[in-house]
Amino acid sequence: MQKYYDRKKHDPRCEYCIYAKIPLDRSVALCKFDGVMPLDSHCRRYDYDPLKRVPKKLRIDTDYTAEDFKL
Ligand code: SF4
Repeated sequence: MQKYYDRKKHDPRCEYCIYAKIPLDRSVALCKFDGVMPLDSHCRRYDYDPLKRVPKKLRIDTDYTAEDFKL
């Protein structure tokens, strides 16, 4: 998993840990080992689960004009 994960880009967080379950309201992480944990916490057992990451929403610029669509 380390191959696909750049620690410099993403800090370890329980929110993305393979041992955590995240409830629908995303208020806490339910850890297999430590119980209820804050989302931004982590420990030495942390292992990244890429499927838990929720991508940021794309922001599309809306300041285009009709000339932007002319050939
Ligand atoms: S406490 Fe450790 S093992 Fe548990 S979810 Fe957080 S990082 Fe993962």
